[in-house]
Amino acid sequence: MTTADETQTSGETSSLTFRAEVQQVLQILAHSLYTDREVFLRELISNASDALNRVQFELIANPNLLDAEAELAIHVKADSEARTITISDSGIGMTRAELIENLGTIAQSSARAFVRQAGEANKASASEIIGQFGVGFYSVFMVADKVTVVSRSAQPDAEAATWEAEGGAEFRVGPAEHAERGTTITVHLKEDAAEYAQDWRLEQIIKRHSDFVSYPIYSGERQLNQRTALWRRAPREVDAEQYKSLYQQLTFDMDPPLFQVHLSTDAPVDLHSILFIPGHRERGLIERRVEGKIKLYSRKVLISEDAKDLLPNHFRFIEGIVDSEDLPLNVSRESVQREGGAKNDAPVLQRIRKTLNSRLNRELNELAEKDAAKYAEFWREFGVFLKEGVAADYEHRNDLLKLLRFHSSRSGDELIALATYKERMLEGQNEIYYLLAGSLEAAQNSPHLDAFKVRNIEVLFLPDLIDSFMLSGLRDYEGHKLRAVDEADLNLPGEAAAVASMVSDEDFAALCTSFQAVLGERVAEVRASALLRDNPARLVAGEGGSQREMQRLQQLLGRDSTMAPRILELNRGSALIAQLAARAASNAADPIVAACAEQLYDDALLLEGIHPNPATMVGRIQQLMEAAARPIL
Ligand code: ADP
Repeated sequence: MTTADETQTSGETSSLTFRAEVQQVLQILAHSLYTDREVFLRELISNASDALNRVQFELIANPNLLDAEAELAIHVKADSEARTITISDSGIGMTRAELIENLGTIAQSSARAFVRQAGEANKASASEIIGQFGVGFYSVFMVADKVTVVSRSAQPDAEAATWEAEGGAEFRVGPAEHAERGTTITVHLKEDAAEYAQDWRLEQIIKRHSDFVSYPIYSGERQLNQRTALWRRAPREVDAEQYKSLYQQLTFDMDPPLFQVHLSTDAPVDLHSILFIPGHRERGLIERRVEGKIKLYSRKVLISEDAKDLLPNHFRFIEGIVDSEDLPLNVSRESVQREGGAKNDAPVLQRIRKTLNSRLNRELNELAEKDAAKYAEFWREFGVFLKEGVAADYEHRNDLLKLLRFHSSRSGDELIALATYKERMLEGQNEIYYLLAGSLEAAQNSPHLDAFKVRNIEVLFLPDLIDSFMLSGLRDYEGHKLRAVDEADLNLPGEAAAVASMVSDEDFAALCTSFQAVLGERVAEVRASALLRDNPARLVAGEGGSQREMQRLQQLLGRDSTMAPRILELNRGSALIAQLAARAASNAADPIVAACAEQLYDDALLLEGIHPNPATMVGRIQQLMEAAARPIL
């Protein structure tokens, strides 16, 4: 009989079969995970703590539950003679049907992911795998050859029931005696796990993994865990190790967080919070989670595991805990769990949101000031979220602009803020110049920089995919317009000597005609450049420049979007251009001129990072090399 078929009434004992995926998981747990086995205790205690959270929450609305006055606590006990451990809690408990449902099944997707990961030997420790796949309870079979669960649901009329299994294919459920509300789990340890049946060992494990569980964990009369939630302590009383340990309990990320913001205030709201900035955008060996979760507590009751909208969307990589005495307990779980719930909720929540956001901004700005290297690390991992925010979140735009960092034509390896750019603007310079490019290297080598270098004007480099999108929300900064360096009608401040032309008007006109014939509709015009100095050519925007960034974004995303044709500018002071002009003048259809026209056009696309297929250049480059290598007669 399978779990789905239980027809027995509650007075009888029946034997059922685990679903296939549970059997597979049990098999692995019992026979192939030998390291880190102690985490089974963390899992059982975390289940007990969840059950206590749930009953505490229920009690607010329904004081008629069983044992309404009972202490919310966990008790552990070891018996080395019998080789057993007992863990009991006064939590929500389970009925017979719930025992079958909760301890007989497992989400198929978790089971599959678990089996796959466990199969990849040594890639992750048991601790990580177990934490992340919701196989929590079953992990007890790493150390147990029999587990007995006796539980009584908090529903006043519920009867106690028992569940028992040996880690094989079967489990049994039946009636039981259990006077109080809650769950008692007896773990019969395997011979090779006898070490866990000692009180000192349990204490050691609990201190290591469950110290911040918010309910007391007793061994006899003694409370083993410190319990005072870390976020309710004064920041100066908390050390780096403790932050790291809390972070790992929350995220299963084995790397330490980059840093944390710990805030503990009672005005304008009572608010205790620790927010972690992870070390990496993708954290956790297995799950590769990018988005963080914020746990929301109110008066020590866990309201939501994943509160939405407490932080602006561009801070969604942050993970942590928010706890406030001022939140009304009836703040519906929905209003913090639903995205977009922000619109119509309690004013307290709005104040919390505001306080968290301004504190985060303050600390990030301080970090940038005090530890530029660390801020650069932060920026490397998470800058993309902030850039996105500039375009998407008008409300927080001004905060975000302060946090932005860029490489520039003058910044070398450093990153600069918009404020720094502004300070360094030349006299008479009113605009901020930027360069969109395929990469930092491409930006540094862009022909567009010629005119800026010679005038000593700084140019911001925008090499990220997201930059085109960011620009839609960044048209100006403190009264200074942002201008692309490839706009056609730039009027640059400062002076630069004109470049001497190396080519006659007549030859140059012939070259423009040849280029135009080769490139056809891809270019709107071929003309002389007033700004190029060292480079032979560049592509500048024609009319309708404002759509450019979005078109570029479409192209980068591989969507079909034709760029409006641009203007090809040639440098009359370039030796290459002069020689090509001479060839074009004597033969309008010169194949070398044609190949060079194509190659100069491709070079421009390549530097911008939007060449659709650079491999097509190879044949042409070989043709040009062959011409160059011809024996000198
Ligand atoms: P998870 O905790 O990730 O849901 P578990 O396998 O650890 O997965 O537990 C399965 C379910 O069994 C839990 O979701 C919960 O409903 C129930 N459960 C486990 N332990 C207890 C307990 N001590 N008290 C009440 N319910 C429990």
